[in-house]
Amino acid sequence: MDLKEKIRVIPDFPEKGIRFKDITTLLKDADAFRYAIDQFAKDLQDKEFDLIVGPESRGFIIGTPLAYAMKKGFVPVRKPGKLPGETIRSEYKLEYGSDILEIHKDAIQPGQKVVIADDLLATGGTILSTIKLVEELGGEVAGVLFLIELTYLNGRELLKGYDVKALIQY
Ligand code: 5GP
Repeated sequence: MDLKEKIRVIPDFPEKGIRFKDITTLLKDADAFRYAIDQFAKDLQDKEFDLIVGPESRGFIIGTPLAYAMKKGFVPVRKPGKLPGETIRSEYKLEYGSDILEIHKDAIQPGQKVVIADDLLATGGTILSTIKLVEELGGEVAGVLFLIELTYLNGRELLKGYDVKALIQY
């Protein structure tokens, strides 16, 4: 199946000059959504790991069905102030300003192997920040999965040394 044709590109969103990759058109297509999750699952079938971690909010959409399919637990990484328990945080730089992500302190035990999933790899800032949280808790990143990779932004450079896979490239 050609997953790329299921993605809708919206010009000038959220600001002028950005061609936003809208995944909602893929998600509402039952066959395409199932196919995408199945592709990830196939990729993970020989990998040893304990948990799937996904950053808010589209990482939840990819990460939770995958965790269910792989019979693993899911750990959310969230924007500040959303998680009720004790958290640790990491900050990452955006083009203008910065953003903060948090994870529950007890979400990952030292030595646990973790697969991280998100919808899209752009500059890599979000995922690097997520990786830092996982590693700070003593988790080991066994792989990083994306639906979409914007290759021209070189996010993969930032994630050197990690096993990175994406189903669709632009
Ligand atoms: P990065 O931190 O790699 O620069 O940006 C990736 C994050 O921004 C992802 O969590 C993703 O959800 C969001 N993002 C950036 N651009 C797009 C886009 O064109 N489409 C979608 N669906 N998400 C985007």
